[in-house]
Amino acid sequence: MFPFDNTYARLPDRFYARVLPGKVREPRIIKVNRPLAALLGADADAVDSPDGAQVLSGNVVLDGADPIALAYAGHQFGGFVPQLGDGRAVLLGEVIGQDGVRRDIQLKGSGRTPFSRRGDGRAALGPVLREYVVSEAMAALGIPTTRALAAVTTGEVVARERLMPGAVFTRVAASHIRIGTFQYFAAREDREGLETLAAYALARHYPEAKGSGNDALALLEKVIEAQAKLVALWLGVGFVHGVMNTDNTSISGETIDYGPCAFLDEYNPNKKFSSIDEGGRYAFANQPRIAHWNLTRLAEALLSLFAEAEEEAAALATARLDRFPAIFDAAHTRVLRAKLGLSREEEGDGALATDLLERMADSDVDYTILFRRLCASATDVSADAEVAALFANAGAFHDWAEAWRQRTAREDRTPDSRAASMRRVNPAFIPRNHRVEEIIQAAIVDADFAPFERLLGVVTRPYEDQPEHAHFADPPSPEERVVATFCGT
Ligand code: AMP
Ligand code: MG
Repeated sequence: MFPFDNTYARLPDRFYARVLPGKVREPRIIKVNRPLAALLGADADAVDSPDGAQVLSGNVVLDGADPIALAYAGHQFGGFVPQLGDGRAVLLGEVIGQDGVRRDIQLKGSGRTPFSRRGDGRAALGPVLREYVVSEAMAALGIPTTRALAAVTTGEVVARERLMPGAVFTRVAASHIRIGTFQYFAAREDREGLETLAAYALARHYPEAKGSGNDALALLEKVIEAQAKLVALWLGVGFVHGVMNTDNTSISGETIDYGPCAFLDEYNPNKKFSSIDEGGRYAFANQPRIAHWNLTRLAEALLSLFAEAEEEAAALATARLDRFPAIFDAAHTRVLRAKLGLSREEEGDGALATDLLERMADSDVDYTILFRRLCASATDVSADAEVAALFANAGAFHDWAEAWRQRTAREDRTPDSRAASMRRVNPAFIPRNHRVEEIIQAAIVDADFAPFERLLGVVTRPYEDQPEHAHFADPPSPEERVVATFCGT
């Protein structure tokens, strides 16, 4: 079904535990991502079938699969845990897709592993549907992310705050190597393991950076760049990851681990949703700082590989880490410039964007709606009234719009082409938290997956106006607001 070509499972034994997925009673497909299955070289009809359900639930292990649970460590909310690892997931294997890209296929919720600690190794239906919808929305928004290949129900229940239907999620990722994977070997002072992992990660994700004479340093540079760009893209769409621990930070630069993630409705830089993030460590505007902090942990883990002398190694690492804020700022300004329809760079662009964001925060303006409406203002001044209506005081917008128009007038782009480019970066549709909650409730309470299908269809075409689905763009009513999200493990 999948043309496996495994490499991680050939790494030394201590990198993982060989483990078979657990069996489940009655696997049934909720959804198969057929285009993704085809990209992976599979027959989509075969995957999307009762036989496929056996494979996607872990009941049947395909020829060529070599299931392993990966070892990793990680800082969780700032505290170091020397051993985490795949406690409820197994990597079935890797495939090289039709596009030549190597990817992991992983089952999440497939039973206990040697890394399960006190957990049951299982996943509940709600988090599986959330990860499916949100990761596919992120992909459609053009943001590097792990993908959803499939979701199946198991016919079993899992015990959470209450009994919940069980499910298994099939995740596809550029790899599952995390900052925490490096920390695992560093914590054990396993220099050979570190070297092997660094060489593997560089060859797999950044082959162009190989052979500079200092591969570990080249890897650090590449990961710094990838994370800076990723977080800039998150901020561009109002995404709050919610649990940016080092074990949830991918070396490939993909968004990984959709636990308590959420999107902003009204713009508030201090917004956090996760029920366990009491201090707001992972709040919206804190994300670049946390990425920098996580990257510092990566540098620490790799330190012994940078140079023989510790002082020299530290100096090399610090010089790279110190570039993060500038790389992030440049990427973030690029994102904001595109949102404002600016094609050239000017000194004051960052300040122009910040000024708008501050005015939005003062009035609790909906982040997504504002930028989508602004696209219309690019061609038609009379559309300003609809944007201004989002503010407590319309003048707050009109004052800013005057500065924006003076700035756009200095570019020779036509208004139509400006508006078109803005519509390609300012989504009409994001998976709003109350909508995600709604599809989860329908699935859990009524076994009704039609709302899930509908929402998935809308948010995977985020940049198209879909008049028939206009209500999916609406912010929540006061009673629909989601105030807290949960890891739901
Ligand atoms: P997360 O917060 O989802 O990134 O998970 C953190 C760690 O907890 C990872 O090592 C997971 O494998 C483990 N974990 C989470 N949920 C479970 C579960 N239900 N059973 C076993 N391990 C789990
Ligand atoms: Mg995780």
